[in-house]
Amino acid sequence: MNDQSNRRRFLKFTLAGVIGVTLGGKNLIKPAQASELPHLDEDDAQASALKYTHKSPYEDRNCSNCVLLQGEAGDEWRPCQLFPGKLVSSKGWCSAWAG
Ligand code: SF4
Repeated sequence: MNDQSNRRRFLKFTLAGVIGVTLGGKNLIKPAQASELPHLDEDDAQASALKYTHKSPYEDRNCSNCVLLQGEAGDEWRPCQLFPGKLVSSKGWCSAWAG
């Protein structure tokens, strides 16, 4: 897959994720619901496109310090704005990480 195609997929998924999870600035995933969500599969198409991994390859960048992570601080698995309906590992990472 070329860079332009990857960029297009990333933008499509990002837009879908932001629209899917937020509406009018409100977070639609409540903490009680979040814990019931399935864990994101590293082989999921969107996860693969963003090189998501359950264990970050970086010491200073992981899901727990990414601005796109949601949910309760301290939980091992939490919702992420880019992966609506799934939980990511707080120790994970993807190429959309933003500090
Ligand atoms: S690093 Fe990627 S998967 Fe982790 S919280 Fe940030 S955007 Fe989500």
